[in-house]
Amino acid sequence: MSADWDTPGPGPWASNASSSLGRRIAEPAPAYRTEYQRDRDRIIHCSAFRRLEYKTQVFVNHEGDLFRTRLTHTLEVCQVARTISRALRLHEDLTEAICLAHDLGHTPFGHAGQDALHDCMRSHGGFEHNLQSLRVVDLLEERYADFDGLNLCFETREGILKHCSAANARQLGQLGQRFLDRSHPGLEAQLANLADSIAYNSHDVDDGLRAGLISLEQLEQLEMTGRLLREVRSAYPGLEDRRLVYEMVRRLIGELVADVILTSRAAISTASPESPEAVRTAEHRLIRYSPAMERQQAELKQFLLHQLYRHHRVYRMVAKAQRTLRQLFDTLFEDIGLLPPRQLARTQAMEARHGDHGRARGVADYIAGMTDRFAIDEHERLFNPRRLT
Ligand code: MG
Repeated sequence: MSADWDTPGPGPWASNASSSLGRRIAEPAPAYRTEYQRDRDRIIHCSAFRRLEYKTQVFVNHEGDLFRTRLTHTLEVCQVARTISRALRLHEDLTEAICLAHDLGHTPFGHAGQDALHDCMRSHGGFEHNLQSLRVVDLLEERYADFDGLNLCFETREGILKHCSAANARQLGQLGQRFLDRSHPGLEAQLANLADSIAYNSHDVDDGLRAGLISLEQLEQLEMTGRLLREVRSAYPGLEDRRLVYEMVRRLIGELVADVILTSRAAISTASPESPEAVRTAEHRLIRYSPAMERQQAELKQFLLHQLYRHHRVYRMVAKAQRTLRQLFDTLFEDIGLLPPRQLARTQAMEARHGDHGRARGVADYIAGMTDRFAIDEHERLFNPRRLT
């Protein structure tokens, strides 16, 4: 039996353990795995990863069993990225590790929760979910005897930190440097970023249709989804809508993936970076969409923003979620004695070092770690006088 395809393994441009900037705390090399496999395994076993199952992507977790959660979103990002990673001869283990960790710092209630928490933290340094994902893997996970966090490799941590304000970057040393000198991260990090957008644009079309918040008629008006719908309909006249939607979404992902592979392969070939370091100082990011696809993706993104994320049914839920988080924050910040003992001790220690900012960060860490249902329940426990505990 012959293989469908084969690649000669990672190219010279791929990140690799021998040129890795390493872990913050040195550890002996793993016996049977690559360093990045070890990172991936640590992420899968951490508790923030398990909590992704009960956090909102767009639709709040209890709205239906068919919608994406942060966990299924994460797995879809990972699938898309691994396909592209192998085709471009990047380091697939590192790609996987970054993708699995990319949303670990997300608050309950999706972007609504993140905006609300950022608002609460405005005078205490703000709240950025990318930075929070880094806090989770650097600090907040408590599972190892020798260190806080997961002690991941530099390249994995750099991939997790997709965006970062200049003020925060200055406090992150080498990890924040690229935001200040505008160099690029490794190719695996560049890819994880694009794979995230491929996954959410495609699955939000699917979830939005299922929820009845957007329609096929609307999607017919857009360049890419319109073309795909016509293509499927003419190949399969009379196909039922359910299969039509799946077929369209499947082709959407396929086209986006193929576009990134072909465009990036050409960019890598032109730049021909001899090492992972050369990628960082290249003139442009090497992992990217073609200009035509970039335009079509932007159109789809705008459509989803206006028709789905700001749909009045979503908005009502968003408003409620934000109120819930704000009340949780204000109440806990005012009286940290309401925090569970472990979070209280941590918050007190942070307050001792950084005053009100530390106190606020301790409360934000606690809230950001909550799942949707835990946040709703904790709100109930704090505000409903009939609840004793
Ligand atoms: Mg994501």
